[in-house]
Amino acid sequence: MSVQRPHIEPGRLFIAGEWREAEAGGRREVVDPSTGKVVATVAEADQADLDAAVAAAREAFDEGPWSRTPARERSRVLHRVGELVRERADEIAAVESLDVGKPVTLCRAVDVETAAETYEYYSALAQSLDGVTRQIPIPAHAYTRRDPVGVCGLITPFNFPLILSSSKLAPALAAGNTVVHKPAEDTSLSALLMADILTDAGVPAGVVNVVTGGAAVGGALLRHHSVDKIAFTGSTRIGRVVAGTAGQQLKPVTVELGGNAPHILFEDADMEKAVGAVIKGFVYNTGQFCMGAPRLLVHSSLHDTVVGILTQAVPGVPVGDPFDPATVVGPMAGERHLENVERYVELARKDGGQVVVGGERLELGGGYYYRPTVITGLDNDARTVQEEVFGPVLTVQSFDTEDEAVALANSTAYGLAAGLHTADLARAHRVAARLEAGIVWVNDWAMLDPSMPFGGVKQSGYGRESGPEALQEYTKTKSVVISLA
Ligand code: NAD
Repeated sequence: MSVQRPHIEPGRLFIAGEWREAEAGGRREVVDPSTGKVVATVAEADQADLDAAVAAAREAFDEGPWSRTPARERSRVLHRVGELVRERADEIAAVESLDVGKPVTLCRAVDVETAAETYEYYSALAQSLDGVTRQIPIPAHAYTRRDPVGVCGLITPFNFPLILSSSKLAPALAAGNTVVHKPAEDTSLSALLMADILTDAGVPAGVVNVVTGGAAVGGALLRHHSVDKIAFTGSTRIGRVVAGTAGQQLKPVTVELGGNAPHILFEDADMEKAVGAVIKGFVYNTGQFCMGAPRLLVHSSLHDTVVGILTQAVPGVPVGDPFDPATVVGPMAGERHLENVERYVELARKDGGQVVVGGERLELGGGYYYRPTVITGLDNDARTVQEEVFGPVLTVQSFDTEDEAVALANSTAYGLAAGLHTADLARAHRVAARLEAGIVWVNDWAMLDPSMPFGGVKQSGYGRESGPEALQEYTKTKSVVISLA
């Protein structure tokens, strides 16, 4: 039986602890990707609203109490956030599912669970924000402090709204910062829900501000002189703008950008397990996954067998209504994403690729569905291989030697995630070391945890989220040296 779709009240901005309409009265429609119908509206902020949000965050940082609250107290509040996320898990999952088109069952098990775990993890780490003492060769007591950076501007993308806002908010708050969060314009509902939860958990007014809107308000946040740090997750194209603007202002920035991960299947791999991981790697979140694996590199001796298995198995993956608990693949998050995937598959056909599975829309309830698709026979320089398609599309290429596999794996501009399947432990370590990626998985895909840092190399950006490394991004180190002479 399907889970009921939630009713969504009109969304407002959350500034200085209050819910407000946008000053100019702007509103934006929220579309359910599984039906194409408008289900709600959210406020569309402009410069005046952004100024108010930054002013609230500035005042909350400069006047306290959050930035001066003992870390142990901040830790208690963050732990409570995790508890409240769990208490309201069904509601959050349903809202996120409606907004993004994610299967509600997976959303509950992965997105909501990860958000709760992320707050719990940084609740614990908040208590270990220690400096160090150093022995220096003069009579002095020398130590370091780790202070919060200040007002952080958080800009997040459409595909994992809840997880990616949590992976920024939790370390930012643990370190004592205040924030202005601008979620993606087409999927901002869970950010508004989280503002409510953070307040209920005890985060004081002004510490977290949420402004909904598009590129204009994102740009205004980026350029604002009262914002001390920017954490951006999104496309490489916009990431360049973000890094450039932050660079001009000498503002610390992390840019978590696009990906196009390779999935290498060596001849000694556990085939059954590997093929399961390959399918998960390209259909998960309807392929709208920066760490998804759209490029399968398979040893030439296994190529035809693996393509045969994929041809049998992929059409059996349940695609459908995200509110049906049996669904594994939902719709794309919006019409523009669907059209983008269609363009790339057409391009692959023109470039001589053979579409062996899928390759077309699935007409279902007016939603933005695309059938999981497998394409063989493309050259490595084909755009569908080299660029980020960001949909449920897998290209298959073959290799003969380990060196060739690594060269193909590293041949795109991106370097976010990579994976390999082998029974040879030495090869696993050897190849993992040579893959140009921020995270490498061996013998499965997407083994993620709030304690394990992730982020990019090359055009996938710089900076790390998750783990103690993320806390580093939200603190600045100060050396203090006290003369003992
Ligand atoms: P996008 O770059 O279009 O937008 C991301 C965010 O930036 C949105 O909130 C958007 O409103 C805002 N924005 C747009 N123009 C801006 C500007 N000029 N100044 C400031 N902000 C601006 O990305 P998207 O389509 O929402 O997300 C998909 C992309 O994100 C993919 O490339 C995907 O790989 C990437 N992504 C990366 C990671 C990671 O961890 N590296 C995680 C998820 C998604």
